[in-house]
Amino acid sequence: MSVERTLSIIKPDATKRNLTGLINAKIENAGLKIIAQKRLQLTRSMAETFYEIHKERPFFNDLVDFMISGAVVVQVLEGDNAVKLNRDVMGSTNPDDAEEGTIRKEFAESIEANSVHGSDSLENAQNEISFFFANIELVN
Ligand code: ATP
Ligand code: MG
Repeated sequence: MSVERTLSIIKPDATKRNLTGLINAKIENAGLKIIAQKRLQLTRSMAETFYEIHKERPFFNDLVDFMISGAVVVQVLEGDNAVKLNRDVMGSTNPDDAEEGTIRKEFAESIEANSVHGSDSLENAQNEISFFFANIELVN
């Protein structure tokens, strides 16, 4: 096992419903350490850049509108196999398919308003972390 870092975002549907603490408890109970965290309002340009890989998908404009519809909490999680472990804690993209006990099963409202984002590879994690955080903000 190797210690990894991954980027997590608590999305506007969850911050609006005051679920940051309950979601953080699930992350921490899984053994992931939140080594950086900040709450911010994304601009349209930030959201478009962040989700650039999806720009040809039919849901891209709706996704950007959703991601700027309220505050997000961006965070860096650290732990053994953090990228995969966080994806397991999140559950499937569509909450209807998500496993019992996962964040999306418990909290997501729809396939779009699905409460959390998590990096899907170590390479993307490194790029996404540096999109939001400077190295001095990451404190184990
Ligand atoms: P994320 O990247 O947010 O961690 P994911 O990796 O599970 O989620 P992706 O396929 O990368 O899923 O899609 C990115 C986001 O786009 C989803 O989390 C969801 O908010 C939105 N999305 C994905 N598929 C759809 C869809 N069919 N309709 C509407 N929104 C969608
Ligand atoms: Mg994704």
